[in-house]
Amino acid sequence: MDKKRDYYEVLGVEKSASADEIKKAYRKLAIKYHPDRNPGDKEAEEKFKEAAEAYDVLSDPEKKQKYDQFGHSMGPQGFGGGAGGYYSGGGMSMEDIFAQFGDIFGGGGFGFGGFGGAAGGSRTRRRAQRRGSDLRIRVKMTLEDIANGVSKTLKIPTYVKCEHCNGTGAKDGVAFATCPTCHGSGTISRVQNTMFGAMQSQAECPECEGTGKIISEPCQYCHGEGVERKDQQISFNIPAGVSDGMTLTVPGKGNAPRHGGQPGDLLVVIEEVKHPELIRDENDVIYNLMLDIPTAVLGGSVEVPTITGRARLNIAPGTQPGKVLRMRGKGLPSYNGGGRGDELINVMVYMPEKLSDAEKSAIESLKGSPNVMPTEAEKNRLFSKFKHLFDQNE
Ligand SMILES: [Zn+2]
Ligand SMILES: [Zn+2]
Repeated sequence: MDKKRDYYEVLGVEKSASADEIKKAYRKLAIKYHPDRNPGDKEAEEKFKEAAEAYDVLSDPEKKQKYDQFGHSMGPQGFGGGAGGYYSGGGMSMEDIFAQFGDIFGGGGFGFGGFGGAAGGSRTRRRAQRRGSDLRIRVKMTLEDIANGVSKTLKIPTYVKCEHCNGTGAKDGVAFATCPTCHGSGTISRVQNTMFGAMQSQAECPECEGTGKIISEPCQYCHGEGVERKDQQISFNIPAGVSDGMTLTVPGKGNAPRHGGQPGDLLVVIEEVKHPELIRDENDVIYNLMLDIPTAVLGGSVEVPTITGRARLNIAPGTQPGKVLRMRGKGLPSYNGGGRGDELINVMVYMPEKLSDAEKSAIESLKGSPNVMPTEAEKNRLFSKFKHLFDQNE
């Protein structure tokens, strides 16, 4: 079973931390280890998930109380560690985590469709939102695609600026009135009691988001939102060498924010499609080749799959099972520059189980023949050469 770190330790807060401190600590970690900032970094992803799980428990008063009382080891209703635990196995899914962000980042930051159900009641929920939410899509890539890179053109439903009101949300883009809260200044004064006495500070007016004006009559096309949902045709390139789970950013192609501002980004998550015959190992690809006895013994030429199609491969006479043949440069290009990988061919030799009488006697005739029987020296040479085949990996 996996050893779980203490949730307070994960977030780096005291047991006595307030809800707000817990939220702040999580926010910091979520930004630091966010997969978009650490593409392909498994360790960061684990940390990201670990923090999300800790936050999920510690931000929920009921779960937190149980956790404080019983810790991780709490039997069937527990929080993981054991069988049937709260998060036994893989913990939270990425979807769960991004859903959690709505609460933490105020919906404007991450995740799919940040507007969600908010559009309806949003007139009363004014929030500074100068940048739209990011859109996240998954793109399937075969090994061939990854070897060459691809250009994609996709139709993606996106919130775009409403043309009727130029994104302002006001009828014809002009139906504004002076904000009654700040009288048009865009700022309000706040008095706070501190240990140094009462301090006055200026803050952005929450009513008009600092603009000094409010919508007097909403645009009838977007109902005052300043955005509408439309299929957006988006073209982008995916470079060669990407790997599963990597996230690429297409700047400015996400959702437009309400009431004007910069659109978010389109985040393209790479989903690698398994090749039917080749196995990827970073920039190398692996192929398991099964030779028949005559070809292994006498040598010959066999056909093998590569990323660029079928290729002929020469087999030297006396090719041992367990040998690894290397086709240089037949792997994948590196995403970060650097060399191209190789194709590695693991050789096995097929030992038939059923033989006809004629086949049996052909094999029989080899029995005891001097070249067929290995000498002690030859045995030792091969045993040490293929030592890795006998290593026990737990
Ligand atoms: Zn409009
Ligand atoms: Zn105002």
